[in-house]
Amino acid sequence: TLDAHPSGRHFLQIPGPSPVPDRILRAMSLPTIDHRGPEFGQLGKRVLAGMQQVFQTQHPVAIYPASGTGAWEAALSNTLSPGDTVLMYETGHFATLWRRLAERLGLEVEFLTWPGSDAVLPEAPGWRQGVRADLIEERLSRDTAHRIKAVCVVHNETSTGVTSDIAAVRRAIDAARHPALLMVDTISGLASADFRHDEWGVDVSVSGSQKGLMLPPGISFNALSPKALEASRSAKLPRSFWAWDEIVEMSAGGYWPYTPNTNLLYGLSEALDILLGQGLAQVFARHQRWAAGVRAAVNAWGLPIQCADPKVYSPVLTGVILPPGVDADAVRKLIHQRFDLSLGTGLGKVKGRMFRMGHLGDSNDLTLLAMVGGVEMGLKLAGVPLAGSGVQAAMAHFAASPSPGTPAD
Ligand code: PLP
Repeated sequence: TLDAHPSGRHFLQIPGPSPVPDRILRAMSLPTIDHRGPEFGQLGKRVLAGMQQVFQTQHPVAIYPASGTGAWEAALSNTLSPGDTVLMYETGHFATLWRRLAERLGLEVEFLTWPGSDAVLPEAPGWRQGVRADLIEERLSRDTAHRIKAVCVVHNETSTGVTSDIAAVRRAIDAARHPALLMVDTISGLASADFRHDEWGVDVSVSGSQKGLMLPPGISFNALSPKALEASRSAKLPRSFWAWDEIVEMSAGGYWPYTPNTNLLYGLSEALDILLGQGLAQVFARHQRWAAGVRAAVNAWGLPIQCADPKVYSPVLTGVILPPGVDADAVRKLIHQRFDLSLGTGLGKVKGRMFRMGHLGDSNDLTLLAMVGGVEMGLKLAGVPLAGSGVQAAMAHFAASPSPGTPAD
């Protein structure tokens, strides 16, 4: 029988899990140690302090051996009580899934939706826009009895490629003089897009390992505010595994109340060395530049970018809408078969209408050019009419300026 091993590296260009650097894979291959032993406490303290820097917070961070969905549940179950009302905002598929999770926990969800219409994507107009903070302010201002206990928004909506302005949401809550907690899903934003837990007054930030942190899936995070910790003392939703009290207490010494994901924490320690060693500002600038290069390609093809508002373009991924009648998943499948390149599928309301190009984590100009080249070939093979060459446009963009942090001669 033939060995089906494909030659060369697979191009994992979905918007997470993102490619894991060899350096991190090697770090994770070290022997697993005693998670109650003295060496472990050092590791635990190191990664917790590093994650505070990444979240830009002085306050505790909880790390869970779980995917991001677990950390979503932890945020809600630690702070709220059965029947509480939360205000969520429909940015896309992940906002919709968080809403479903909240309802399954027994919360009442008010789901704000963008009120406009969209000729290109009439089936999901709001899935091309960022959070409208004024709509949140308007709703909270009418809630004079303070029934709404939390406002939950997605920072980087991975299903669409839109990065919302979280500071504006904070200002909206303050302008309405409303005491609701602010909870933010930055699962795909953190460590790629600027995110400031303390400065933006976020009460619970939710994130995961498999995106900007360049790790495999399997750990997730809650960053907390003093107000969130205070709310957790009287919140009545049942929780045990997710409960912050024991985690925060034990994590002060670098330990967890259960068996943590030791080898992923080795990987996290390595990822933090890389990211903090480079400096977050450089990491964010690099993503912005990559994103602009990929958008230059999509514009040259003459295809609509899913995000309709340039102010909220995602530095992490770009959604590409295909002409009506073209099955975006069939195009993705063709590209995968022919070029060993994985692109993100359209999720929920936009399934089959669009695909997603990831430009996050351990990338560089040439891996992104390869992605653009694979997509361009695939679009042509699928018979999608293109206005021009995205490869040329991306090359021009990347050649025009070096990536931040590229060593000078
Ligand atoms: N929220 C966002 C914005 C995401 O991108 C994802 C996963 O892609 C999730 C939530 C769910 O996280 P997980 O799949 O790790 O449980």
